[in-house]
Formats: sequence, C-alpha cells, structure tokens
Amino acid sequence: MRSVVIDKSRDKVNDECGVFGFYNNDDFDIVSLTQDGLYGLQHRGQESAGITVIKDGEPFTVKDIGIVSTVFTEKNLKKLPQGKISVGHVRYTSHKYLDRAASQPLVMRYIEGSLALANNGAITNFPEIRAKLEKGGAIFQSNSHAEVIGYMISTHRIETDSIEEAVLCAAEDLKGSYSLVISSPSKLIGLRDPHGFKPLCIGKLKNSYILSSESCAIESIGGEFIRDINPGEMVVIDSEGFHSYFVNKKKTTSLCLFEYIYVARPDSIIDGVNVNLARRKAGEILYKEDPVDADIVCGVPDSGLDAAQGYSSASGIKYATAFIKNKYIGRTFDVVGIDKKQRLLKTRLNVIKNVVRGKRVVIIDDSIIHGNTSAHIVKVLRDAGAKEVHVRISSPEFVHSCYFGMDLPDSKDLVSNKYSVEELKKLIGADTLKFLSIDGIRKIASGCKIGICDGCFSGVYHADKPKIKFEDKFENKIKKV
Ligand code: SF4
Repeated sequence: MRSVVIDKSRDKVNDECGVFGFYNNDDFDIVSLTQDGLYGLQHRGQESAGITVIKDGEPFTVKDIGIVSTVFTEKNLKKLPQGKISVGHVRYTSHKYLDRAASQPLVMRYIEGSLALANNGAITNFPEIRAKLEKGGAIFQSNSHAEVIGYMISTHRIETDSIEEAVLCAAEDLKGSYSLVISSPSKLIGLRDPHGFKPLCIGKLKNSYILSSESCAIESIGGEFIRDINPGEMVVIDSEGFHSYFVNKKKTTSLCLFEYIYVARPDSIIDGVNVNLARRKAGEILYKEDPVDADIVCGVPDSGLDAAQGYSSASGIKYATAFIKNKYIGRTFDVVGIDKKQRLLKTRLNVIKNVVRGKRVVIIDDSIIHGNTSAHIVKVLRDAGAKEVHVRISSPEFVHSCYFGMDLPDSKDLVSNKYSVEELKKLIGADTLKFLSIDGIRKIASGCKIGICDGCFSGVYHADKPKIKFEDKFENKIKKV
C-alpha cells in the first residue's frame, strides 16, 4: 500500500487536536450537533476527524483521515444513531506518517463495556508507560497516546469501584499535557492535565452538557459557555448533572501561550482571556516597542490579522487587507521539489496588488519557524510594488523546542538559532524585522486566570521534559496508511 508522508516543511507551528463531547438531556440531534461542534474546532486539526455516539451503552463510530466535511458525508452520518453521549475529535499529528489506527475517538472494550476517548496533548512519559505495559503483555494498535491512556484506565477499572476512580488513578501516572474527553456506557468525562497546558471548557445547551477544547465550538452550536475546566480537574457528567474532582494539583500551572498567539480561534475565551483581544494587544505592544513610519499595516491571515488591527489602532497607520488566503487547501502530503513548494505557498497566500503598490507596508505575522513563508511574503509584496516592507512578528523568537504537544522543530532547526535578527532580516529581504519581546508576550496574557507556559521563547518550562523521545523508540513501529 502507498505510504502517505506528511510535508513537514510547512513553515508554521501546528497544534495537536480538538476534542468535543455532548451529554444529551434533551432530544437534540446529537450527531448533527457533534459534527457542528467539530466544524468549530477544525482549525485545531485537519488530518482526521471522528465521532463516537453512545446509544444504550453501545458505541457507534465514524472516523477517517480527512477534514470534517469530507469524513462526515451524508452516507457516513447515517451509520451513527441518535444516542445519549457523543465524543468528537479532530486531529493533527506530529509524526512523519499518518497513522490511520491512531484516528480518534479510540474505542476500547473494558470490564463495563466500551470506552471512547479523544485527546489533545502529549504525554511526556509515554515511552516509559508504553514499554512497561508492553512488558506486561499489552498489545497496541497504534502510536497514539490516547490508546495508552485508555489501556491504563481500563486496567485501573478492574481494581477500582468506578470509572471516575479509574480515570483519576490513570491520571496519577501521566506526565505532560492532555485534555481528554472520555465516555463510559453512561457517563461523559472531561479531564485537563494538572498544568493546564491545553484548554478545555464546559458549556450547556438547554439541559444538555457540552465539553470542548474551545468556547467558540460551544457558542457555534447555540450553547452557553459555563466555565473552563481547571488544571487538574476532572468533570463527570451523568444523569444527575456534573460533578467535579481533582487530581495532582500543581503549584505552577502553564497554559500554552501559543493558544493566544496562533492556535485558538479569535472568538474563543480561554482561561479568562479573549483571544481576539490578546492578539490585538500583541499588535499594540509591537508598535510601542518598535514604532515605524508606514502607509499601511496588514496582517498575514489568519492569526496576523487581529495583531495588525491592534498595531493600526496604536499607531494610527491605516489597516488594509493585503493578502488573501486560500482556505480550501488543507495540510499537504508528498510535496516534492522547491518549485512545487513555492507554487503551493503562492496558491495558499496571494497579494492584492493595488492595495500595496507604491506603499510603505508593515506586515504582521505570528511567528517565524524556518523563514520560507516570511521570505515569500516579502517577495510577493515587493513584486506587487510595495515601496518598503517592515516585518513585525507578534511573538518572540522561537529558540527552544516544545515538549508539550506543539509540533515545533528541534531547536537546532529553528531559524532564530541559526541567524541573528539582522541576518534574518536580510535573508527574508525585509527593510526591517522586529519580534515582540518576552515581556510583551507575557502582557497579552496578563488576564489569564492560570499560569502560562512560554518555554519555547524563554527556555523555562514548568513541567519535566521527556526523558526519552517518542520518535527514538517508536517511530519505526508507526504503521503507514
Ligand atoms: S513550549 Fe511553547 S508551544 Fe510548547 S506549550 Fe509552552 S508555550 Fe506552548
């Protein structure tokens, strides 16, 4: 069978999944609502999508590689019954090969029936846990962290009195980041890791409950946001409502700062911070830190747009739309050759020439990983007749890797570790180049109710790094689809 190799050269940070769950206390069309919820989380992962519906304690699942609109065809949706509980997932993988068996929700049999599980995160002690389980005779179908978590829960259920206790026991042994949505035959469970790396929140639609990575998905199905799940909190929803439990509370919590800069949708509110306002603030601070004279300020779609508006309001420089992003190109596979890669960049992002011709342009993007996209943006602006191009980045330089679920290259491959800002400016062909300072980026999250992680900028992490790299131990075991 032909293997599908992911194009890892994309010059963007990638996130790692969106999770969704619904507990139906009314007579809602749970299939349709879960599908719509996943549409609201599609920005978090475009490689696979899946829904499991629990009806009379039994799971029914549709999942496949692809985006929500291609996986949930009319024909596929007919395979899902109307039930009491649903679990939904959209996935991005950080591995080189797409592993079809790792598509979620993962459904496993255990002592009480079936467990469906959807996860967003990276378990840093995954290699150790998996090796220990394999030594004990466990056989795994995929490279998925979710499968290991499911196995741990089902094992603990044998020696505990309830699924809640089993989940809490499993959580005691997990390190790193995770936001989980789990269904048992009669309960819907949400669990956020004790550091709070990944967001997870709860909402309500009439008498029914919703769990979601982001509040935007709750609102998009007409629901009402109740609150964020706290770091280390497990929420259990059953016929009596929702109950809260805690595991392993940490003194230092650390929401991934990149949720505010790039990952989350601007209409979401995460741990008390409105994502749109956080990005606007980044733009305002960027201007205050490094003012420049220009005619227009533009953003690179999508996450540079709000920052550009903030820059415009702080500077008085006119805001303009210079780039059109083709939203219909998902993640690309098997992209070979510089020409094709360049063409793809152009197909993804094209400039409106008359907006920039003869102008001094400030262009705002969220990050620079390899530098290819920035160089492309500067070139197309100059080709379109821009007089000056000033690049502003609404985050500090990436100089460290991420171990907690964001797909950043090794630190040695980050462009900011190879060149100074001045050298990078020349490399991408800009007139000036400035990054937001670390103090500046911390200010955009000043209203955050929990602590933040800025490890990829500062090198300071509030959780242990993995002792063994997953790829070193298991990459050769990943199945190719
Ligand atoms: S290291 Fe960076 S990308 Fe990783 S969790 Fe922390 S802030 Fe997010």
